[in-house]
Amino acid sequence: MNVKGKVILSMLLVSTVIVVFWEYINSPEGSFLWIYHSKNPEVDASSVQDWWFSSWFNNGYQEEEEDIKHGREKELQLQDWFDPKKRPEVVTVTHWNAPVVWEGTYNRDILEKYYAKQEITVGLTVFAVGRYIEHYLEEFIISANRYFMVGHKVIFYIMVDDVSQMPLIKLDPLRSLKVFEIKPEKRWQDISMMRMKTIGEHISTHIQHEVDFLFCMDVDQTFQDSFGVETLGQLVAQLQAWWYKEDPDKFTYERREESAAYIPFGQGDFYYHAAIFGGTPIQVLNLTQECFKGILQDKKNDIEAEWHDESHLNKYFLLNKPTKILSPEYCWDYHIGLPTDIKTVKIAWQTKEYSVVRNNV
Ligand code: UDP
Ligand code: MN
Repeated sequence: MNVKGKVILSMLLVSTVIVVFWEYINSPEGSFLWIYHSKNPEVDASSVQDWWFSSWFNNGYQEEEEDIKHGREKELQLQDWFDPKKRPEVVTVTHWNAPVVWEGTYNRDILEKYYAKQEITVGLTVFAVGRYIEHYLEEFIISANRYFMVGHKVIFYIMVDDVSQMPLIKLDPLRSLKVFEIKPEKRWQDISMMRMKTIGEHISTHIQHEVDFLFCMDVDQTFQDSFGVETLGQLVAQLQAWWYKEDPDKFTYERREESAAYIPFGQGDFYYHAAIFGGTPIQVLNLTQECFKGILQDKKNDIEAEWHDESHLNKYFLLNKPTKILSPEYCWDYHIGLPTDIKTVKIAWQTKEYSVVRNNV
């Protein structure tokens, strides 16, 4: 063969290799010609192919194409929507790298686009027992209807001890309400603590099948501004307004060793507020079950944690770090005043009127 022939032959060979290579990486199941897709569920040929390809061309482009082809939404990364440097004067990242969401740190447009495609449903549990119904419930629901997860499907789970006192409220489209009658406890401390048991039971029996995310809130507060998708996460905690600048050794954690909620001095990250917590139903289920276990153990040992369910919640979050923390802007007490740290108040505490609303003061 002359030189010209050799050149043509090698060009043919090279182009054949290129075509085969190209067809292989673009075939839907890696099944081009002789390579058949594995039927064995333990060996996922397509993921091997993904890895092999992306390790060659490591720019994420192919992965994105694959996601679109398979109708998968690309997982949102923290840096896509969260910029901790926007609020340098406050703590915006924890030592375990969870975001602390402050006004200005999040890009709501990007989050909205992402969650709109996911078609999420968000649940919200609230309890109103005894005089808490007439005193707080209507304002809570009306304000939640207006500001909680606007544009997304929401289910309000309202737990009352007297359904006949349930206020009639017209909700916006995408919002629905489920009312449950619960047995009232005699002491306000038990009403507050037993919420952990009731929430857990409702998540197990139905809530886990109905929502993607769940929040649990006190009723003695009102929404004042948008409480949106930037608050969603696996396990979400709220910074208590009075303590967010304090030294952990000053926190009013339960300090008696005999209690299940015990946190020794020198430990603890933040003082979390039991008036708001949330996450995925499974995470909230675990939280409520663990806290209720602690509450029962304390009852058996004839001890009651200083701040009831909140003490147990703080112990839980010490052992199970929240994946997202909400700034005190999400649950602010105007009795503190309005320092410059607080840019927009999303939820405000109602004035405490314990002598009016509580049954045993
Ligand atoms: N709660 C209730 N009836 C009571 C006591 C408590 O419905 O008699 C519920 C209500 O949702 C309330 C929550 O338990 O918001 C926690 O109690 P409270 O708000 O009084 O505690 P605080 O926020 O003052 O610690
Ligand atoms: Mn409260």
